Amino acid sequence: MTGQDPTAIGIDTSKPHPARIYDWYLGGKDNYPVDEAMGRQMLALEPRVPVMARVNRAFMHRATRWLAQQGVRQFLDIGTGIPTEPNLHQVAQRIAPDARVVYCDNDPIVLAHAAALLRSTPEGVTEYLQADVRDPDAIVEGAGRILDLGRPVALSLIALLHFVSDEDGAHALVSRLLSALPSGSYLMMTHATADFTPEESAAATEKLKAAGITLALRSREEFAGFFTGLEPVEPGVEIVHRWHPELGEPVPGQDDGVIPGYGAVARKP
Ligand code: SAH
Repeated sequence: MTGQDPTAIGIDTSKPHPARIYDWYLGGKDNYPVDEAMGRQMLALEPRVPVMARVNRAFMHRATRWLAQQGVRQFLDIGTGIPTEPNLHQVAQRIAPDARVVYCDNDPIVLAHAAALLRSTPEGVTEYLQADVRDPDAIVEGAGRILDLGRPVALSLIALLHFVSDEDGAHALVSRLLSALPSGSYLMMTHATADFTPEESAAATEKLKAAGITLALRSREEFAGFFTGLEPVEPGVEIVHRWHPELGEPVPGQDDGVIPGYGAVARKP
């Protein structure tokens, strides 16, 4: 936890929050008893959630590395989560010390820990924006103060949009964000799905809903829809850990059954 009085900085410890439940899956310390309780309920339905969380971080590492190797020097990462090393800027700046990274999340606990995201290389830049992805205009405006939106940007939406419903305009907000980025930009994304475990997924969605958390699991086709109009990077939509495994180390347990999540990277023409 932060060492500060959580309520004084807007952290509600009476209800579970996605960033904190995810931190619990990863074995972090920035979560509260309500988050652990919800995490344990999820675990009872899907024992692989901690592996899923690690596989998801590993995808972020591989995709970031690949993009930096392609020459991408600017990243906009929305739904950053509680800092977990290595963070995106550390992966990118290891390859390109001049990489510029803007992080964004709407949870006050991420803001409380943002200092860890701001330890950039001297040649590069990292910045943190407190904003909601459902307000893409505010994000474009804030990102435009740090990044050169005339040059390619990798938009990173990792394990974020399954918290945004269709009613809240999940697809439209991605289009809006991409419309602000030039040709040669990329979208990198992962997303949980109910395709392989429909019953457990429905039960998990209900439990989270009762706690005030929207879970909008999407099919492979719905996920692919986020990339409409973009050029897919080989191999297109894949199960998260099967996307370019050669670019990183395997996560222990990743092949012990299906990981119910998709990942993909695509380029804006
Ligand atoms: N991208 C990180 C964290 C994923 S957890 C990773 O893959 O490791 C999902 C994150 O999305 C949480 O930090 C949560 O606070 C954030 N989030 C959820 N809904 C959001 C919204 N509407 N706007 C911005 N961030 C959101």
